[in-house]
Amino acid sequence: MNISTSQQLFEKAQQYIPGGVNSPVRAFRAVGGSPLFIKSAKGPYIYDEDGNEYIELINSWGPMILGHGHELIQKAVSDAIQHSFSFGAPTRREVEIAELIVSMVPSIEKVRMVNSGTEATMSAIRVARGYTGRDKIIKFEGCYHGHGDSFLIAAGSGAVTFGTPDSPGVTKGVANDTLTAPYNDLEAVQQLVDANKGQIAALILEPVVGNMGCVLPKEGFLEGLRRICDEEGIVLILDEVMTGFRLSKGGAQERFGITPDLTTLGKIIGGGMPVGAYGGKAEIMNYVSPAGPVYQAGTLSGNPIAMAAGYTMLTYLNEHPEVYTQLENSGSKLASAFRTSLEKLGLKYTLNQIGSMYTLFFTPNAVTDFPSAKSSDLPLFGKYFHAMLNRGIYMGPSQFEAMFLSTALTDAHLDRIIAANEEALLEVTR
Ligand code: PLP
Repeated sequence: MNISTSQQLFEKAQQYIPGGVNSPVRAFRAVGGSPLFIKSAKGPYIYDEDGNEYIELINSWGPMILGHGHELIQKAVSDAIQHSFSFGAPTRREVEIAELIVSMVPSIEKVRMVNSGTEATMSAIRVARGYTGRDKIIKFEGCYHGHGDSFLIAAGSGAVTFGTPDSPGVTKGVANDTLTAPYNDLEAVQQLVDANKGQIAALILEPVVGNMGCVLPKEGFLEGLRRICDEEGIVLILDEVMTGFRLSKGGAQERFGITPDLTTLGKIIGGGMPVGAYGGKAEIMNYVSPAGPVYQAGTLSGNPIAMAAGYTMLTYLNEHPEVYTQLENSGSKLASAFRTSLEKLGLKYTLNQIGSMYTLFFTPNAVTDFPSAKSSDLPLFGKYFHAMLNRGIYMGPSQFEAMFLSTALTDAHLDRIIAANEEALLEVTR
C-alpha cells in the first residue's frame, strides 16, 4: 500500500506541530508506523491523501454514528452558514437542542452547551463542588474524562493516599483532590468514601468504558455507586461523552436503568462539530452562572453551525429508533463472527462488546478493569492493527480503544471486516 504522501506530510507536520498531530493518539505511537493523513470520508469509507480507501471503525472516535457526510447534516450546516458563523448571543436553535436533549435523556432537566467533552467534564465537577461545598472527587483507573487537570491523576497506593499527577504541569495540590478507584470495585469505592467522610463532591465514571478498550460494568456496580452516592450526598456524574446517544437514544443510563445527578456529553451531540454539554438535576444546574454562583462561559458555546449539525443529528436519532436496532444487530453479528474465528484458530483472546462498541483484547483474561486490560499483548495488537489496515480496515490505533460502528456499514461491509479479522489473526499469530 502506498502511503508516501501521508509519510511526507507527517515529516513536515513534525516541524510545526508537537509530535506532528493535534491530539496524541493520532500519531500511531502505540502501534508504530506513520499515521494516515485523511483527505475525505463518505458513508462507511475514509480516504487518505494517497487515495487509499478504508472501511471506518473509528468514525472520528464516535461522532459519526450515521457514517460520514450524512446528507441531512451537510444540508443543515450549509443552511446555517448562510446566516453567518457566530453571534455570541442566544439563538432559537439553542433552545430547541436543549429541549430535545432533555426529552431524550430523562435524568437531564437543564443542560449547558460547551465546545468539547473536556469542557463538559471540567465544568460538571466544578458545579458538583459548588453545589456540595466539598473539594474531592473520585474517578476510576482507566476511565478518561478529557485532559482537565483534575482527571490527569494516577492512583495513590490505598484508600487514604492521595493521587499523584499523571502529567507534568498538573500540580500536587490538584492531585490531592482526586481519588482513584479500580473500575468495577465497589468495595474500594466504599473504602475511599469512608476514609474521606463528608469531603467528596462527586464521583465520575464512564458507565461503559471506551477508554481502556471496551469494558462493561459488572452487574450491580452502577446501582452500588448510586446507593453510595445517595448515602453520602455525593453527586454521581455519568460521563456519556462516548456512550451518549450511542448505546441507546438515552445513552448507557437508559440501557442500564441508572439515574445520575449529572451527565456529560460530547461527540455525537455535535454531529461531528466541536460540541459538548453537561446537564442534570435542575437543583444542581441552577448553580451554574448566571442562574447561580458557579462560573462557566464560552465565546463560541452554542455556536450556530455546531448547533445546526447537532440538532439535526439528535432529531434524526430521536425519530429513527431503527438506527439502534441496526447498530445492535451489527455489533452482535461482528462479535459472534469474531468469536467463531477465535475458536476456529484456537486463540483465547477476549472480545468485549456492547451494541455498536467493541474491543478485541489480546489476552486470555476476562477484561473488567485497567489491570486486566493491560495484561494484553500490546506488540501483538500493533501487528494486528497493521494487518487490518493493510486489508483496508481503519481501526483505533491502540489496544485501549473501543471501535465504533456506524449505520453506514451494510452486511457486505461487516462481512469484509469479519474476513479481514480472521486473516489478520492468522497472519499475526502463525
Ligand atoms: N470523556 C470521555 C468518556 C471521552 O471518551 C472523551 C474523549 O474521548 C472525553 C471525555 C473528552 O472529550 P473531548 O476529546 O471532546 O475533549
